Amino acid sequence: MFSRTHRDHPIDQNIQYLKTVGPKRAAVLKRLGIETVHDLLYYFPRDYEDRSQVKTAFETVHGEKATLIGTVTGVRETKPRPGLVVTKLLLKDGSGFFMGVWFNQPYLKKQFSPGQKVVLTGKIERLTGQVQVYASDFELIEEGEELLQEGRIVPAYPLTEQLSQRLLRRIIKKGLDEWAHRLREFIPPHLVEEYALPVLPAALKEVHFPSSNLKAQKAKERFIWEDFFLFQVALGLRRLKLTRISKPHHYLPHPDILEEFIERLPFTLTAGQNSAWREINRDLDKAGPMYRLLQGDVGSGKTVVSLLFLLKAVGSGLQGALMAPTEILAEQHYLSLRRLLKDSGIEIGFISGGLRKKERLLFLERLRGGQISIIVGTHALIQDDVEFKNLAAVVIDEQHRFGVRQRALLQSKGHYPDVLIMTATPIPRTLALTFYGDLEISTIRELPPGRKPVKTYLSTDMGSVYRFIRRQVDLGRQAYIICPLIEESERFDVQAAVELEKELSSGIFFRDCRVALLHGRLKTNEKERVMKSFYSGDVDVLISTTVIEVGVDVPNASVMVILGAERFGLAQLHQLRGRVGRGSQESYCILASDSQSEDARERLKTLTRIADGFSLAEADLSLRGPGELTGFRQSGLPGFKAADLIRDQRLILQVRREAFKLLETDPELTCRDNMLLREELQARSMLNWGGG
Ligand code: ADP
Ligand code: MG
Repeated sequence: MFSRTHRDHPIDQNIQYLKTVGPKRAAVLKRLGIETVHDLLYYFPRDYEDRSQVKTAFETVHGEKATLIGTVTGVRETKPRPGLVVTKLLLKDGSGFFMGVWFNQPYLKKQFSPGQKVVLTGKIERLTGQVQVYASDFELIEEGEELLQEGRIVPAYPLTEQLSQRLLRRIIKKGLDEWAHRLREFIPPHLVEEYALPVLPAALKEVHFPSSNLKAQKAKERFIWEDFFLFQVALGLRRLKLTRISKPHHYLPHPDILEEFIERLPFTLTAGQNSAWREINRDLDKAGPMYRLLQGDVGSGKTVVSLLFLLKAVGSGLQGALMAPTEILAEQHYLSLRRLLKDSGIEIGFISGGLRKKERLLFLERLRGGQISIIVGTHALIQDDVEFKNLAAVVIDEQHRFGVRQRALLQSKGHYPDVLIMTATPIPRTLALTFYGDLEISTIRELPPGRKPVKTYLSTDMGSVYRFIRRQVDLGRQAYIICPLIEESERFDVQAAVELEKELSSGIFFRDCRVALLHGRLKTNEKERVMKSFYSGDVDVLISTTVIEVGVDVPNASVMVILGAERFGLAQLHQLRGRVGRGSQESYCILASDSQSEDARERLKTLTRIADGFSLAEADLSLRGPGELTGFRQSGLPGFKAADLIRDQRLILQVRREAFKLLETDPELTCRDNMLLREELQARSMLNWGGG
C-alpha cells in the first residue's frame, strides 16, 4: 500500500534495469513484491546473523557455530558412496590448519584456488583432532572489496524459490551502492534531530548491512518511525481537508419517516444505540461531512442505528447508500431493509454484480434521477458510472474489509456525503487511532437485553456434534456448518464444502433434514436462493464456506459448527459465532478441531471462556501479539514495511502527536523544511487521500 507509484522518479523504475537483475530475476523478485529499486531498498531483513566475530581454528569449540578466515592450501573431492560427493577445502590461518566441508556441491571445487583467502561460517567438528567447518556459507575475500556474506553482521531476508540469501544480498548491495546516496532525507530536520533518527541513505545501508547490532537496531527504528509518520501525516492532511469542506445538503430535524420508524420498532433502543445515534445527529448538523466509526460487538445492533441515519436522509429528501463487503451481505441488508420499510413507500435499490447491462443502465438512470432513495451494494457502489442525485448518507458495513483508500474514493465523487462506518472488530485505542485516525468513534458496549451468551465448546467427536445438530433441528432450530479454511485458494475451500455437503446429505445424521450448500463460487441468483431459503426456514442445515462470516442475521439459527477451527483467527471465529445467539433461545458454537498444537488449543479455549469481543480482542493481543490481530493483515490496512502495530504502540502515539503538530504550523506542507516530505507523500500516493 505504501509502495511508491510515482513513475517519474528514476528510483521507481523497474528493477530489471538494475545491474545484476534483468527480466528473469525481476520476475522472481516480483514474487516478493519487489518491482522497483525503491521496493528493493525497502525490502528489509527479517533477521541478522552475526558473523563479525572471527575466530582462529585453534579457538573454536566442538559443536559451536563459528566464523573463520583462512588461506586456501588445497581442495579435495571424495565420493565415499554413490550419490554422495564430499568437497573438502584445506585452509590455514595463524593458528594452524582447518578444513571446510560441503556435501553434494561439486561445482564448488572450481571456485577455490590455492593462496586465496576465504571466510566461512558453519558448525565446528573437532572429533578427530582436526578442525572441520561444516560450512553453511562462505565468501571469497577480494582485495579492496567489502564483505557481504561473511565476516560481518549479515542480513537474512524472507526468500522465495530461485532466490538465495547470497544472491539477494548481492542485488540489494548493488541497489544500495547505485541508489542510496541519491535519496534525500524527507523527515523534517527538527524531528530527525529530536529523535536522533539516522538519516536516509545511511539508515538504508545500516538496515541491510549493519556495522553493529546497535546501528541495525537504530536503523530499523527509523523506518518504523517513517512508516508511522507518513501514515499519520497523510491522515492528518485528510482530516484537515475534510474540516474545511462544507457539505451541500441539509437535514430536516425530525423527518416523519424517521419518527414513524422509531415508533414502530419492535424493541427499544439500548443506551449504547441511543448515544451513538445522538452523536451521529450532532455530526449531521455540522457544516462539514460526518466521518464516524461505529464500533460494537457482533449482535450489538449497529444496523438499526445505521438505518436511522439513512432514514433521516431519505426523510429530508436526500439519498442514502449502504455498502457491504460481500454480495451476500449486501443482499441480506437489502432484503431486511425492504422488509423493515415495506409500507413506507421508500424505493430501495440493490446494485448487484449480476445485473444485465440494460437493467443496470435503467437502474443507474433511476438513481441519478432520485427515484431510488436508498441503494445497497458492495464496493460496486463506488464505481465510476454510479451517479447520484443528492447522495447525503453513506453507511459502510464491516469496515475492516475496506481500506483507507476506498473510504477516500467515496468522497472523490464530489458529494461529500456524511459517512458512517461500522465495524464489529473491536480494536484497542491506539490501533483505532492508527487506522481510523481520520474518524470520530462511537462505541456500543452492550448487547440488547435478553441475549444469552452463546455456549461455546471445543470438540473432536464429529459424530456427537452431528447428533447434537440433529436434535436442535428436531426442535425446529437451524444450524450452520462452516468448512475449514484452506489457505491457498478459494477453489479448495469450495471443493471441501461440496464434498462435505455430499457426505452429510447422504449420511445418517441428517436423514430427512433439508441440507443446503453455500459458497463463493455459486452464481449470484443461486446464492440468493440458498440464503432466502435459509432465512425463511426452508433449510435446516446450511453448509458454508466463510462467505457468511459477517452480518448474516437469522435469529432462528441456534448452532454454529466450525470445522478445522484452529485455522481461523480468534476474531474471525468470534464473528462466525456471532451468527447465532440472535434470538432468545439458547444457542451453541462448537469449535471442531483435532489440532494437537498447544497454542491452537489455548487459543480456542479462550473463545470458550470469553463471550464479548472487546475482552477477546485484548486476550488475542496478549496471546498472539501483533501480526495476525483480527485479520488486519488480509484486510488491506496499511502495509507498513517495518512497523509492528502492537509492539510499537507507544511510538504510534508519539509520532501521531508530532505529525499533527507539524500540520498545525504548516497545513499545506509548503515550508522549506517540509517540501521533501510533501514530495515523498506524493510519490507514495498518500497526499490526496481525501480525493477531490
Ligand atoms: P450487528 O451489530 O452485529 O450488526 P445487528 O444490527 O445485526 O447486529 O443486530 C442483531 C439483532 O439484534 C437483529 O436481529 C436486530 O433486530 C436485533 N436488535 C437490534 N437492536 C435491538 C434492541 N435494542 N433490542 C432488541 N433487539 C435488537
Ligand atoms: Mg452487522
